[in-house]
Amino acid sequence: MAKQERIQQDIETLRRITEPCACGTQRPSYTPEYRLAIEYVKKRMKEFGLETREDNAGNLYGVLAGTQKDAPKIISGSHLDSVKCSGAYDGIAGVLCALEAARMIAESGAPLRHPLEVMGTIGEEGTRFGQALIGSQLVEGSWGEPQLDEFRGLEDGLTLRETMKAYGLPGSTTGVCRRDERVKAFIELHDEQGPILENAGISIGVVENIVAISWMHITVHGLASHPGTIPMSVRRDACVGACKLICAVTDYAREHYDGEATVTAGKLEVFPGNTNCIPSRCDFTIDIRTCNGAYRDDLVRFIREKKADVERACRVTIDVREGMRQAPTALDAKVQQCIEDACKKLGYSWRRMNSGAGHDAMIFARIWPTAMVFVQSHDGLTHHPDEYVPPEELAKGADVLYETFRMLDAQRDD
Ligand SMILES: [Zn+2]
Repeated sequence: MAKQERIQQDIETLRRITEPCACGTQRPSYTPEYRLAIEYVKKRMKEFGLETREDNAGNLYGVLAGTQKDAPKIISGSHLDSVKCSGAYDGIAGVLCALEAARMIAESGAPLRHPLEVMGTIGEEGTRFGQALIGSQLVEGSWGEPQLDEFRGLEDGLTLRETMKAYGLPGSTTGVCRRDERVKAFIELHDEQGPILENAGISIGVVENIVAISWMHITVHGLASHPGTIPMSVRRDACVGACKLICAVTDYAREHYDGEATVTAGKLEVFPGNTNCIPSRCDFTIDIRTCNGAYRDDLVRFIREKKADVERACRVTIDVREGMRQAPTALDAKVQQCIEDACKKLGYSWRRMNSGAGHDAMIFARIWPTAMVFVQSHDGLTHHPDEYVPPEELAKGADVLYETFRMLDAQRDD
C-alpha cells in the first residue's frame, strides 16, 4: 500500500473511534474511546517494529532502536486527544506522519544511529479539565503530583488522579518527567489550522515561533435607563462604548499588523441584559496574539489611549485589566534548518511562518531542541468535523519528517 493510502486508512479508522457524537470525532483523554484509539496506534507501532510503552500520565511512546546504544533520542509526535465534535487530523496527523516516517526508516534497511521515538501525548486540548497541555507539562516537569489532585473534570468533578485510576493507570506521576533526559530533537508535525499554506499553494510550513498570548479583561460602566425616554445624545450606553473600543482596536490591528498580530474580542456580556434597557455595564475580553513583544505592547498602549476617547465620547468609564501574559516561544534554529533542507532535497515548496495556536512543542521547547512542521489545512478549518488535510500533503509531511530525521542522525551530538 502506498504511503498516502496507509496514512489515510489510519486517519479514517481513528476518525470512527469516537464517543457517540452527532457530528465529528470526539476523543477526550482518559475515556474508553481514547483507550481504543491508543490501542490501535500501539498495534500499528508494533507492526512497524517499534517497542511501545505508556507512561503513568497516559502518554504513548513507540521506539525504533538505533545502532548506537547511548545516542540521545530523536522524538516526533503530537497529541492523541481531541476537542468536542472535532475533526480527524488535529494532533493525530502528527503521530501518524511520525509513525509513517519511522516505518520508512525500518523498511529502508539503513537504520538510524539514534533511537527514534514516536510520541502521542494525552490531555493537550483543555476539553476535559479546562487545563491544556497536561501530558506534555507532566513530561516537561512544570506539573507533577499536586496537579493530579488540583485539576477536576469540568463535567464529572473527579480529580485528575481519580480519572487516571478509573482509566487504569496507577494514579501517580512516577517516571513521567523526562526533564533530565538527553534528547537530540523533538519535532511536532501539525495541520496549520489556518489558511496561509493552502492559499499560497505551499506544502510545508517551517515554524519559527509560537505566538505569545495576552488577555485583557475590560469593563465599561454606563447608566441603565429607559430605552425610549433618554435622547441619544445624553445616554451613557456601556455596550456602545465596548463596541467602539473593540472596533477601534481590531481596525488598528488590521491596518498595522495584518499577518503579524491578531486581536479578538471573543466574549462579551451585557448587563442588565434586557431588550428594554440601556446597558449599564459591559464586560468583554481581548485576546492578543503575536510573536513580537513590541507589537503586543503597542496594541495594549492603543487600547489604553483609545479608552480615554471612548470614555469622553460615550460618557462612560472603562476599567482595563491585563490578565494572562505569555512570552513567545522561539523554536530551535538548527532543527528548523534541517526541516528546510529536507524540503529542498525533496523538492517540496515551503515557507517560514509562525504558529498562532499553542502546541505541545512550546512546552518541550523548554527542555529539548524543538521544531514544528505545518501541513495544509483546507480552508483553515479546525476543531470542526470538516477539518481536512489532503492525503498527498500528509504524505509530504511524512517525507519531510523522514529526511529531517536522517539529517539530524548524520549530525554530531553535542
Ligand atoms: Zn492540536
